[in-house]
Amino acid sequence: MTATKRILLVEDEKSIREAVAAYLEKDGHWVTSAADGQAAIDAFERKQFDLVVLDLMLPKVPGEEVCRTIRDTSDVPIIMLTAKGEEEDRVAGLELGADDYLVKPFSPRELVARVRALLRRASVTTEPQRDHLDYGPLHIDVAGHRVILKDDELELTASEFKLLLTLARYPGRVYSRMELVEKVLGYDFEGYERTIDSHVKNLRAKLDDDPRDPKFIFTVHGVGYRFERPAQDD
Ligand code: CA
Repeated sequence: MTATKRILLVEDEKSIREAVAAYLEKDGHWVTSAADGQAAIDAFERKQFDLVVLDLMLPKVPGEEVCRTIRDTSDVPIIMLTAKGEEEDRVAGLELGADDYLVKPFSPRELVARVRALLRRASVTTEPQRDHLDYGPLHIDVAGHRVILKDDELELTASEFKLLLTLARYPGRVYSRMELVEKVLGYDFEGYERTIDSHVKNLRAKLDDDPRDPKFIFTVHGVGYRFERPAQDD
């Protein structure tokens, strides 16, 4: 078991706040609760946190604003809580720098699992970047710009390589199309979001990855994509 992590929980609905706090504490974390956006910003300025659980719809200062304020000074992992149907908001949340999101109603168990995953990922992120990524049959030689699937070297374009590398560096992390445009193509132009879809389509074809039953690249509806480690079956 790792050391106790400090979590800032920002949620204005008392019943959700108390239930989530109880689950996180039971999982060994130390929880500070805030019931509105201003209280969250104040708490963040006073103390160090390892992770923030942030509701989007908040009194006083909205969640987007809290996220932006935190991101001005910190890259602490942030999980955003959104209500059903706020798809636009969800995308906006990821673009503001949230690392993950959960749609209400969610089970506190699911949140605890996401918190664990994000804390694990955060500890990996601070390690030096690796030269080689190995995921079952898929081998990525970062320095050599080579991708090998089983025994075959894939012929990827520069954009496809960057796209694969971006996704594969952090398995499980959801990237919005806009983020991928910035990281892969190097510009931020809304009209180019669809180009990411065609790069993903081409990359999937080369990886022999069926979008209806993916091994590597998963579509996150209304948001973007994520990479997963393939299940070990051979
Ligand atoms: Ca709320």
